[in-house]
Amino acid sequence: MTETLATDILILGSGGAGLFAALHAKQANPALEVTLAAKGLIGKSGCTRMVQGGYNVALSDGDSVERHFMDTIVGGKWLPRQDLAWRLVEGAVERIQELENEIGCFFDRNPDGSLHQKAFAGQTFDRTVHKGDLTGIEIINRLMEQVWARDVRRLEDHRAVALIPDRAGAALAGVLMIDMRSGDFRLVQARAVLLATGGGPTMYLYHTPSGDKACDGLAMSLRAGLPLRDMEMVQFHPTGLLAGPDTRMTGTVLEEGLRGAGGWLLNGAGERFMTEVDPAAERATRDIVSRAIYTQMRAGKTTPLGGVYIEMKHLGPESVRDRFKGMVERCADSGFDLAGGRVEVVPTAHYMMGGLPFEIDCTTTLPGLFVAGEDSGGVHGANRLGGNGVANSTVFGGIAGETMARWIAAEPQLRDPDRARIAAEIARCRRPFDLPAGDLNGLRERLLQLMWDDVGILRDRAGLERAIQALDQLDRELAATGLPDSEPAFNLTWHDWLNLESQILVSRAIAAAALAREDSRGAHYREDHPETGDLEKSAYTLVHQNGQGLEVAMKPVDFSIVRPGQSLIDQAPGHAPPTP
Ligand SMILES: Cc1cc2nc3c(=O)[nH]c(=O)nc-3n(C[C@H](O)[C@H](O)[C@H](O)COP(=O)(O)OP(=O)(O)OC[C@H]3O[C@@H](n4cnc5c(N)ncnc54)[C@H](O)[C@@H]3O)c2cc1C
Repeated sequence: MTETLATDILILGSGGAGLFAALHAKQANPALEVTLAAKGLIGKSGCTRMVQGGYNVALSDGDSVERHFMDTIVGGKWLPRQDLAWRLVEGAVERIQELENEIGCFFDRNPDGSLHQKAFAGQTFDRTVHKGDLTGIEIINRLMEQVWARDVRRLEDHRAVALIPDRAGAALAGVLMIDMRSGDFRLVQARAVLLATGGGPTMYLYHTPSGDKACDGLAMSLRAGLPLRDMEMVQFHPTGLLAGPDTRMTGTVLEEGLRGAGGWLLNGAGERFMTEVDPAAERATRDIVSRAIYTQMRAGKTTPLGGVYIEMKHLGPESVRDRFKGMVERCADSGFDLAGGRVEVVPTAHYMMGGLPFEIDCTTTLPGLFVAGEDSGGVHGANRLGGNGVANSTVFGGIAGETMARWIAAEPQLRDPDRARIAAEIARCRRPFDLPAGDLNGLRERLLQLMWDDVGILRDRAGLERAIQALDQLDRELAATGLPDSEPAFNLTWHDWLNLESQILVSRAIAAAALAREDSRGAHYREDHPETGDLEKSAYTLVHQNGQGLEVAMKPVDFSIVRPGQSLIDQAPGHAPPTP
C-alpha cells in the first residue's frame, strides 16, 4: 500500500541547494505549497553544513568576476560548461550579499569592516569568504531560520528511491519515497521536483561526505534513463585526517585554508615534496597535490598510518590556533597537535564534479525535473576549486526555486503517475527482504577498496577493466544478499542495502566514464594516457544506462565565452564578456 501526497514543489535534499530553492520558490510565490524532504534531519544532513573553508566570491578591488571565471575554467581544465561557470561567479556576488543582508549570516571581517577573504588553492586572488573554519554551520543555521519562518512542509528521514514518470513517460509525475521511520512507501506527486541530494563519493576507502549520502539522486537519474556528465571527475581532497581504521574521523577533511595559509606537506621521512612537483607547491590545485601525495604513498615514503604529514608550526602555533580553531580541535580529538606538531593526512574522496546535465535555469531534459548543487554536472569540469562548491549549491539552488515557481505558473497540472512503474520500483526496493541474509558490510568494504585501488587517484586501462568486472560481480552478489530482519520500520540495514545499490551503480558509471576518457585532465589521471590532449578538442563524457549496461559518449565542449589560449582578465576592469 502506498500513501500519496500531492504538492506543488518537491525538493529532495536540505543542503544549500535545497534550502535556497525552498526560500526562493516561496519568495517568488508565497501561495505555492513547497515540500522539503531529506534522507536525514532537515538542515542537519548533507555536506553544506560541513563546509569549513568558505565561499568563493569576487568582491575586492583587484578581483573581478572575470578573474573568478578564468580561475574556474583554467582550474576545470577547459571542461566546464562556460555559461554555467559564468552564472556561478556572477551569481555568487548576489548570493553572498543575500546571505549577509537578508539571511543574516555573519562572516569574518577585516578591521575596516569589509568581508575577510582568505587564500584557497588554485586561485589567483584571495576570495574565499568564511566564518572561521566552520562556515557551513553559519550558512545552514541562518538559512533554516528563514525557511522555517515560511510555510514549508517537512518530510524528515524520507528517502527518495525512484523518479516516477507520468503515464506517457514524457514528464516527471512525482517521486517514490520511503518514510524511514515507519518503513512505508509514499508517493509524492509534484508539479515540479528539485533533485538536490548532493552527489557525494562515499564509495571510496577514504571519503569526506556525510554518511547519509550514497549518490541516490544520481542513481535515480540513471535508472530513469537520464545521462550523467563528467562522471570520471571525482575530486580527492589532499588532506583527509588519517587517524587509523577504527575511527570515523579518518577521511574527514582538514581544510584547504591550511595549505592556503602556508602549511607544508612532508613525507614519512620529513621531506617537503610539493616544491619539486609544482611552482605553487602546497597551494597547487587539489588534483595535483592529491596525486603527489599518492605518489609518495606508493613509493612507501609514508607516515606510520600510511599517509603523509601536514605541518603548520612554522607559521607560529598561536597564530594557527587562532586562525584554525576548529581544525586544531578536530586534530586534538584524534591525538594530533596541528598548531605545534605534525598531523597524518591522506587524500580523501570529496566531491563529484559530474552529475545531471542542466541548463542555466536548472531545467533538465525531463520536464518537471530540476537539478541544483552537487547532483548537477558541468559547472566545474575536471576540477572544482575549493570554495566553489557551496557557491554552486546556493547560487543554483536559488535559481531553481525561481524557475520552478515560473514553471508551475505555465504547467499547473499534476501529472498522472505510471502505476506499473511504482509497483516495479517498490518491488526492487523490497527485494532484500525476500533473500537470505548475507554480509553487507563485507560487500561495502570490497567496494570501498576496489574504488580506491582501481578507480581512484591514478588510473589505467587494466585497473579500470578489473574494477568494472569487480563491480558487476558485487552487483550480482548484492542482488542475492538479503537482510537479517524483516521489519521495515527504521531498518538501517535495509538502507545500507539501498545505499550499496546506489553506490555500485554510480561507481559503474564513474569507471565506465574513466575508461572512455583516454587523456588526463584535472581529477582524472590515466597513467597509460598522461597527456592532457588538445585543449581545442576538449570533450566531456556523457554516460547513460542502456538495458543493464552503460554507454559512454564523448561530446565536444562549447567554448561559448573564451577559447583555450584566450583570457578575459587582460581586458579592462569592468569589461563584461558576451552574454552566454
Ligand atoms: C567536509 C566538507 C567540507 C567542505 N568544505 C567546503 C568549502 O569549504 N567550500 C565549498 O565551497 N565547498 C565545500 N564542501 C563541498 C560542499 O559542502 C558541497 O559542494 C555542497 O554543500 C553541496 O550542497 P548540496 O545542497 O548539493 O548537497 P548537501 O548539502 O550535501 O545536501 C544533500 C541533502 O540531500 C539529502 N539526501 C541525500 N540522499 C537523499 C535521498 N535519497 N532522498 C532524500 N534526500 C536525500 C541529504 O540528507 C541532504 O539533506 C565541503 C564538503 C565537505 C564534505
